[in-house]
Amino acid sequence: MQDNTKYYITTNPSHRRILVIRDVVDVDHTPDLSFEDFDAIFINVIDSVMDRNKLAIRLASPLHSEKCRFKPCFVTRRLTGWLGKFEVLIDGYASTPEDSSMSRTIEEIYGNFHRLNFLLGTEPVATHAEEVVRLCRYAISRGHYTFSSEPAQGLSQGYMSLYYHTLWLPGQQAIQSQEREYFHKQLLKLGYIRRTRFIERMHVCPSCNNTHLLFFESCPKCGSSDIHEEPVIHHFRCANVSPESTYEWDGELRCPKCKHMLRHIGVDYDKPSSIYTCKQCDNTFMYPDMRVLCTEEQHVWRPDQLRPVDVEEYEFTPEGIRAFANNDVTHTLSHVGFYGYSSMRDFMDYLRLHANPDPDSGYVLIVSRFYVFDPAIDYLTDSDALPPLVASMRRFLNYKQATWGNNYYFMRRVHEGEVAKAMGEMEYEIKAQLHDYNDVSPGFQHELIETYLYHPGDDVEQFIKRIEEERN
Ligand SMILES: [Zn+2]
Ligand SMILES: [Zn+2]
Ligand SMILES: [Zn+2]
Repeated sequence: MQDNTKYYITTNPSHRRILVIRDVVDVDHTPDLSFEDFDAIFINVIDSVMDRNKLAIRLASPLHSEKCRFKPCFVTRRLTGWLGKFEVLIDGYASTPEDSSMSRTIEEIYGNFHRLNFLLGTEPVATHAEEVVRLCRYAISRGHYTFSSEPAQGLSQGYMSLYYHTLWLPGQQAIQSQEREYFHKQLLKLGYIRRTRFIERMHVCPSCNNTHLLFFESCPKCGSSDIHEEPVIHHFRCANVSPESTYEWDGELRCPKCKHMLRHIGVDYDKPSSIYTCKQCDNTFMYPDMRVLCTEEQHVWRPDQLRPVDVEEYEFTPEGIRAFANNDVTHTLSHVGFYGYSSMRDFMDYLRLHANPDPDSGYVLIVSRFYVFDPAIDYLTDSDALPPLVASMRRFLNYKQATWGNNYYFMRRVHEGEVAKAMGEMEYEIKAQLHDYNDVSPGFQHELIETYLYHPGDDVEQFIKRIEEERN
């Protein structure tokens, strides 16, 4: 081993081959390393820039790297306490690759694989659904059988802390939470998980499912929150009832009606309630309106309009553990509710699932159709295989996608006000990626043919019919 090597492979006392990472190494794109070359990973990177240490872990982690997937992964002891949310990705800390407690944990994990009949050699992850399945498989491989939808740091919608590491892009909170909800419903239906405990009921924005809500009291007449609360004083002697400020007189309290000073000894008044005054419109009222601002879309709701969501704890059942361990779940789980690449049928069913007949729901579906021609495609291959073009698009692209012959469809859901901006972004982003594919497949052609918009309240079957009719 040379001192300047970024990585090397060594054998530990239990004869496991350990990949030792000494600098940031893109393991998946290192041709000299293959899945069969090593059994576990030891990351021995100490950089003063913490993000660089995290990048080194990410690129060699059992969740993100195809070549490292599910393998035991350890980090140098010197990073103990520095990894934050990244800690869920590793199996522990060690001082050297020969460390005996690390060696013991590696044997435990391999023992677990053996007991569970855990299938290690699976295809690379290419869709959101597969990514989520992989997270569950990882959890199971480490003996984590329960999870809950309690909000966690960086994951206000809760669920497994591992979900934090799926590669959704920012601004997709609502879609992420709906995807998880869909996923857990599926698992319940398949009998792979069961509810074990009700934790609490929380309220989310009915439009975007955001949990970042600001509550404030406001004037029922003009809606301003510039309101002032003060006690109401009831003077026993003359039965006057009015706000405390009407009693204030030269630093003392005097009844505005009978002009007698209020007695502090042998008290002759009480404060039965309080009253609010709006500083904007002078309205006085007993009960302010509660309003809720969704920070995501600057929309104001009444509390009774919020959507209740039950926070619950789930547990994988023995059938679920079996299905995830041997990867059967990829055949039984429906991919309809997930973003990313799917069959054309799932793509259309997703439209049906999310087309909202309520004209006020505010979500617009944008579908772009590209014409693509790829001379690299061998049309005789298995029709289920992922086309090379799709595989080369960034894995978890921020769109629901499907291909049909020479048509490549992309879909996004956005708020009504963001349609023009989203369409511009979509066109730019997708064209740039399709263009990059030219390096892989010279002679590849692509063109944006049409963009379809579904507005809430439209007839979804008409919308689907139009897409289907125009593709020939
Ligand atoms: Zn919202
Ligand atoms: Zn007011
Ligand atoms: Zn009085």
